[in-house]
Amino acid sequence: MSHRVTLSFDNGPSSVTAQVLDVLRERGVPASFFVVGKSLQRPGGRQLVERALADGHRVGNHSLTHATPLGVRDDPDEAFREIDGMGELLADLVPGERFFRPFGGGGVIDENLLGRHALERLEQGGFTCVLWNSVPRDWENPAGWPDVCLADVRSRPWSLVVLHDLQTGAMERLPAFLDALEASGIEIVHELPPDCVPLRNGRRTPSFASLPLAAQRDGRSPEQRRE
Ligand SMILES: [Zn+2]
Repeated sequence: MSHRVTLSFDNGPSSVTAQVLDVLRERGVPASFFVVGKSLQRPGGRQLVERALADGHRVGNHSLTHATPLGVRDDPDEAFREIDGMGELLADLVPGERFFRPFGGGGVIDENLLGRHALERLEQGGFTCVLWNSVPRDWENPAGWPDVCLADVRSRPWSLVVLHDLQTGAMERLPAFLDALEASGIEIVHELPPDCVPLRNGRRTPSFASLPLAAQRDGRSPEQRRE
């Protein structure tokens, strides 16, 4: 079986982001950065996002404050603030398709990920929702995550890996990880695996149905509801 990997870095930008961008640029490796509003607003945050875009990476919305997964309270005001509030901060920075990645506690994809109201905001706002299928928990295991991740990406044809450009020390191991991928013949691609994209430009894709969302319980599409 051949293997492909799409890389993503969440929760930045931070003081580690420039180092991550350097490593990716050196190797010509594309990635996606899902950024948080409160980090973007720190000094230098916007410049890091501009650089990521200039280097050809994808930049997406990872909520304004990254405080509580949006399925926990399922509050319409919170969903609007976290998704649209962050969308406004990114609007003049990131042209084109609007990407949003929700967050789950510890990288878990479960009913807490998105509530009904958050899903509605994403659909109405025309967002492309980007999930993941590989979480090597780099924040818990800053030295050992590359080995964990390498074994994991060998277990499926196409992995969307979640890493964090944060000051955990984990990004020190990014060059070694990329070396190991290359040595294993694993291709790093910029495209997103369709299985990890339940909404594209606000429209439900075939992978939407397999999401364990509370919102799925009445998960008929707007078209179906009109019938
Ligand atoms: Zn996150």
